[in-house]
Parts: sequence; C-alpha cells; structure tokens
Amino acid sequence: MNDSTLRIVWIYPDLLSTYGDRGNLLILAHRAAARGIPVETYEVRSDMQMPTTADIYLIGGGEDGPQSLASQRLITDGGLHRAVNQGAAVLAICAGYQLFGHSFFAKGTKCAGLGLLDITSDRGESRAVGELRGDIDPRLGLPPLTGFENHGGRTHLGQHAAPLARVTGGVGNDGHTEGAWAGKIIGTYSHGPALARNPAIADLLLRWATGADRLAPLDDSWPERLRGERFAATTPA
Ligand code: GLN
Repeated sequence: MNDSTLRIVWIYPDLLSTYGDRGNLLILAHRAAARGIPVETYEVRSDMQMPTTADIYLIGGGEDGPQSLASQRLITDGGLHRAVNQGAAVLAICAGYQLFGHSFFAKGTKCAGLGLLDITSDRGESRAVGELRGDIDPRLGLPPLTGFENHGGRTHLGQHAAPLARVTGGVGNDGHTEGAWAGKIIGTYSHGPALARNPAIADLLLRWATGADRLAPLDDSWPERLRGERFAATTPA
C-alpha cells in the first residue's frame, strides 16, 4: 500500500448485510481501479476494532436486532466517530442510515444512534416497501435517485442535515424527502447495492475521498439501461 491507496471499509458485514450490500463495496472498488486509483477493501466484522484512517466507510441495511447491536458496538468502539471527524466519506443505507442519526426504533424500543447525522427516526404506521425515486439535491449535481426501499421507520431531519432527494415516487424519509447528506456523509433508504442503480453517487464518494474534481468517464451503458427500465416501470402514466 502507498499513500495514494484508497481504503474502503465495509462496516459489520456480519450484522448489516441483509440485502446484498457487498455490491456497494465491489462497485466502488471497481470504479476506482478502472480510473487507475489503487484501492484496498476491508471487511470489518463486529468483533473487530474499527479502523480510523480509511477513506470511505460503507454501512448497510438490516433487521432491527442486528441494527441495535451494530449501533451499540459502534458507539462503544468510537473508531467510526474519529474517522468521520477526520473527514472520511460515508455511504449509509437504510438501517445504517437510521443508526447514523441521534436515535431510531428497533423492536419497539428507542435506541441511541451515533449522532453523526442530524436525523432521528421513529416508527411508521406501515412498512414502506417498493420502488423509490427522487430528484437529488441540485447542489450535488447528480442525476435522479432510483432504488428499492423496505423499512418500517420514518426519518426526520434536523437543521444540520439536508435531504438527499425530493421524493418523486415511494416514501423515503416521510413521503416528501428521501435520505440525508451533510459534509461527506450520504444516507439513503435506497436499498442494498444502491450504487448499482446510482453509479453517479459512487463517483461522488470517490471524488470526495480522493479530492479529484472530476473522474474519467466509464462505460455505464448497463447501469443506464437498468436505470431506464426502472424509471419507465415507475413513472406514473
Ligand atoms: N430496521 C429498520 C426499519 O425497518 C431498517 C430496515 C432496513 O435496513 N431495511 O426501519
């Protein structure tokens, strides 16, 4: 490894990997390597200490029990807090997104989150399951979000977090906004390997992590086809 090596950590695959979240790690590593950026990936299980000097941290979705365990363990470990305070980039999905906030509900109990995003989550009246679409905050300069959501919680943003997107289909945080971002942290209800449908978010994380203004374009004809299919399937007539 040398100093220009991009280090990507996948947080607690033993707890939060219910929905194929490994895909985000593979996609980021692939898109970095395709630009000639040396990359190393680390899968950090919940019985391991969290490294503090990686460039990108990924945390996935999961059921209530593993979600609350992961939150407790990360609070006790403290390493993720240090990494974020040192400027690491983060992609937090669903359960991982909720636990980045101040609090969330799991198995009917209010649980402490990491407090790294100014959000709180509570219980929704019904489970939000289905396609999710939204127009991403124009400041991020990205094409629309497409994904699949499956969560019981609803999320409320404080003044230090901005919505990732305005919902155009599905529920997201509350039927109006979807996800949140602040600094180099992105949280979303778009499930599992969300970067497969949203390669522009992968490239944003890579730009944040490397400081590059732009990255060489890649052949994204397959993800573009997938995006086109999903938008066509979910756009109201
Ligand atoms: N347990 C959380 C909820 O239902 C998160 C679920 C998930 O990660 N899909 O709200």
